[in-house]
Amino acid sequence: MDKVLQHYINGKWVKSLSDKTLSVINPATNVSIAEVPAGCKEDLDIAAEAAYLASNNWRNTNVNQRIQYLFKMKTLLEKHADEIAEICTNESGKTFAESKAEMLRAVENIEVACGMPVLMQSEFSEDIATGIDEFMIRQPVGVGACVVPFNFPIMITFWFMPYAIASGNTYIVKPSEKVPMTMTRIFELFETLDFPPGVLNMVHGGKETVDAILDNPHIGAISFVGSTPVARYIYQRGTANGKRVQAQGGAKNPIVVMPDADIDTTVKIIADSAFGCAGQRCLAASLVILVGEAAELFTEKIAESARVKQCGFGMDTGVEVGPMITSESLQRVESLVSQGLDEGAELLVDGRSTLIEGYENGYFMKPTILNKVKRNGIIHRTELFGPVLGIMYAETLDEAIEIANDAEYGNAASIFTQSGAAARKFRHDVMAGNIGINIGVAAPMAYFPFSGWKNSFFGDLHAQSRHAVEFYTQTKVVVERWHDKWTRKF
Ligand code: NAD
Repeated sequence: MDKVLQHYINGKWVKSLSDKTLSVINPATNVSIAEVPAGCKEDLDIAAEAAYLASNNWRNTNVNQRIQYLFKMKTLLEKHADEIAEICTNESGKTFAESKAEMLRAVENIEVACGMPVLMQSEFSEDIATGIDEFMIRQPVGVGACVVPFNFPIMITFWFMPYAIASGNTYIVKPSEKVPMTMTRIFELFETLDFPPGVLNMVHGGKETVDAILDNPHIGAISFVGSTPVARYIYQRGTANGKRVQAQGGAKNPIVVMPDADIDTTVKIIADSAFGCAGQRCLAASLVILVGEAAELFTEKIAESARVKQCGFGMDTGVEVGPMITSESLQRVESLVSQGLDEGAELLVDGRSTLIEGYENGYFMKPTILNKVKRNGIIHRTELFGPVLGIMYAETLDEAIEIANDAEYGNAASIFTQSGAAARKFRHDVMAGNIGINIGVAAPMAYFPFSGWKNSFFGDLHAQSRHAVEFYTQTKVVVERWHDKWTRKF
């Protein structure tokens, strides 16, 4: 049997109390590389109890001391970047370069959270009445937890965890059961940082573990990233239980190309955005809306750019597009493409039924482009989460914005143009939280919030930056008057 992964609870590696496991599969080979506990409530409750018991000492460990752990965490991850990236590629399918890129994004968040002494500073008003002052302080919520998706096995945990622990919370990470090995290795490295037991915990599993997080009375704040139906469920059940919840959901990101765009650069950037990470990126370009004469210039060039992308196992040199995460995902995306064709879209590039030599059992799909996608059809509306780009057309920028806004999701949207006026109108009118101007993947740096809108986000405070600090801290307002016996004044 493959190695069965363990939880990390209260400073120790522990086996699950349940025997149920799930296989972790390398999607490039369809070979099982580990077994992960399927999860059970009891495991989670033990971790939450440990985190709860550790929380009082941790919040009383001063902020300067708390961030020292983060400085060491950053150095440790940088030192082991290649090793972690290889594990990530083996279980998630993304290319080695993509795995390394997400490691950088994770480290960036640790760096920002190292500023916690300043990030937690608050407000003070002197003399709100004679001799009376008022101020606000931020204190940790207590125990926090994150539930993360398969597509960024390294980065997404770091949108939350460094901010939570640096601001004085103890924490539980629940990795995706599809890619649990990367975070397990990261926790093996964290063991050498000598956090006080219970401060940082990891519990594996699927729905049963997540439900236990949502119901556990010790956990006060939950960060979720994943698909929209699950995000909505997490938000509803977590908040019904009186917890703070921030839940990021799915996406369908439109990109508008104006006739004045620099077409060669635009094509290159959009192809990287649509097909990088095999399209399994919540900021991936998914729909291109071509305005006016942009149509003629763009279509053949993007088709050529898609055809030459090298698809294969992410550890092999030159590979730009890895496999999809599971055979079910592959079948689902191929079937949605067929439905789009049945609705009248035209196949510009067909990447279905891909066989890669040496990896014949892998879940590969080459870049695929559907032209003349039907308004309100399946390709216009549905999150595909695969290497598929749909093309639509508009006469004017106004019409393109109308199409872009005619969507359930609001994660990201971009425009390619040389006109400042068009760009300004776009950023003002488009109903999405992350806007790109001549940018293909509008990913905010760690010191900005990751601002999804509509069904891409449930909650108010987002991931990263000051939003994460506010999410993991509660404000306390103090009104203060001191009787002064020396001056006999109130
Ligand atoms: P998913 O929703 O299937 O799973 C995400 C997490 O939820 C996993 O840890 C999983 O164990 C848990 N989970 C799954 N089903 C559950 C259920 N019924 N009850 C409770 N917990 C459950 O998502 P995924 O397939 O791992 O990831 C892909 C999705 O994530 C895409 O929709 C993508 O757009 C989205 N995503 C969004 C962002 C963002 O920032 N908005 C970032 C990355 C990924």
